[in-house]
Amino acid sequence: MMALAALPHLIDRLPKPRGRLTADAPLGPQTWFRTGGNAEVLFRPADIGDLATFLCELPADVPVTVLGVGSNVIVRDGGIKGVVIRLMRGFTAVAVEGHEVVAGAGAPDLNVALTAREHSLAGLEFLSGIPGTIGGAFPTNAGAYGGELAEVLISAEAVDRSGRVIIVTPRELGLSYRHSDAPADWIFTSARLKAAPGDQLAIARRINEIDAARADSQPRSRTGGSTFANPPGHKAWELIDRAGCRGLRIGGAQVSEKHTNFLINTGDATAADIESLGEEVRRRVFEQSGVRLEWEIRRIGEKP
Ligand SMILES: Cc1cc2nc3c(=O)[nH]c(=O)nc-3n(C[C@H](O)[C@H](O)[C@H](O)COP(=O)(O)OP(=O)(O)OC[C@H]3O[C@@H](n4cnc5c(N)ncnc54)[C@H](O)[C@@H]3O)c2cc1C
Repeated sequence: MMALAALPHLIDRLPKPRGRLTADAPLGPQTWFRTGGNAEVLFRPADIGDLATFLCELPADVPVTVLGVGSNVIVRDGGIKGVVIRLMRGFTAVAVEGHEVVAGAGAPDLNVALTAREHSLAGLEFLSGIPGTIGGAFPTNAGAYGGELAEVLISAEAVDRSGRVIIVTPRELGLSYRHSDAPADWIFTSARLKAAPGDQLAIARRINEIDAARADSQPRSRTGGSTFANPPGHKAWELIDRAGCRGLRIGGAQVSEKHTNFLINTGDATAADIESLGEEVRRRVFEQSGVRLEWEIRRIGEKP
C-alpha cells in the first residue's frame, strides 16, 4: 500500500517576509501565565512595511492573531491556528517630539513612562503600572492609577488584514472603560501620546508610588492581571471575595489570596485549569450576588 503524502505545513503556503517565521512556536513561555499551546506559525515582522506586505499577500483563509507580551491573555492548550504576529525589534522605539511621545506598538508601557520621565514630561506615569505593550493597551483602553490610554492618545497607526495602513484618532476608536470599537483585525503599530512639561523629581516619585502600590496589592508573576472587568456599580474583587472564592483552586490554578480578581498559575497549571477556575468564579459570583462577571482577560486559541 502506498504511504499517504504528509500534508504541507501552513508555513509552506505563506509569503516570504524579511522578518522571521517559525513553525509550531511555543507561546506559553511568552505569556505571563507561562502556560498554553503553540502558534501554528509565529511571525515577527522586521518593520511596518514587512508587516503590511505580508498581510496583503497572505491567503484570505489564514487566521491572524496579534500578541504583545501576553499579560492579558490565556492561550488555550490546543494553541492558536494560523499566524500569530508579535511586534518586536522594529516596533519598540520610543521617541520624544516636543511634548509628544511616539511609541512603537511593541514598546513596553514601562519604557514609555521612563522615557517621558527622562525628558521631564508628565502625564504618562500611569503607564508604568501596566506590564504590557503599547499595542496591547488598545483593545481594553488600558488604564491604571487614574490614567488611561484614551486620555493621552493623539493618534494611532494600524494595519488591517489586507495590509492597508490607517491613521486614526481616539474619537474614531471609541475607547471607553475596557472597550474599543476598533475593528478586530486591526494591528496597531504605533501611538502618538500627549504629555506636558513637568518636574522630573515629581514624575519619578509618582512612578515609584505606583510601583509600591502594585507590589502591595497585586501578585506580579504567572498571572494575567484583572480577570474580570468591574461590573457597573461593583468591584469585581469584592464580589469574588463575598462569593468565598479567595484562594479557590482548580488543578494548578488559584484565585490569588492577595487580590481576588487575579488568577495565578501556582506552577503546573494548564490553560484549561485557569479558564475553568475563572468560569467557576463567575458561576459562584452569579449564584451569590446575581451579578454576571465578564472576562477582561482574552482567552484565545483552541481547546485541545
Ligand atoms: C500583574 C498585572 C497587572 C496588570 N495591571 C493592569 C492595569 O492596572 N491596568 C490595565 O489596563 N491592565 C493591566 N493588566 C493587563 C495587561 O497588562 C494590559 O491589558 C496590557 O495592555 C496588555 O498588553 P500586552 O502587550 O500584554 O497584550 P497581550 O496580553 O499580549 O494581548 C492583549 C490583547 O491585545 C491584543 N493586542 C496585542 N498587541 C496588539 C496590537 N499591536 N494591535 C492590536 N491588538 C493587540 C491581543 O490580540 C489581545 O487581544 C495587568 C496585567 C498583569 C499581569
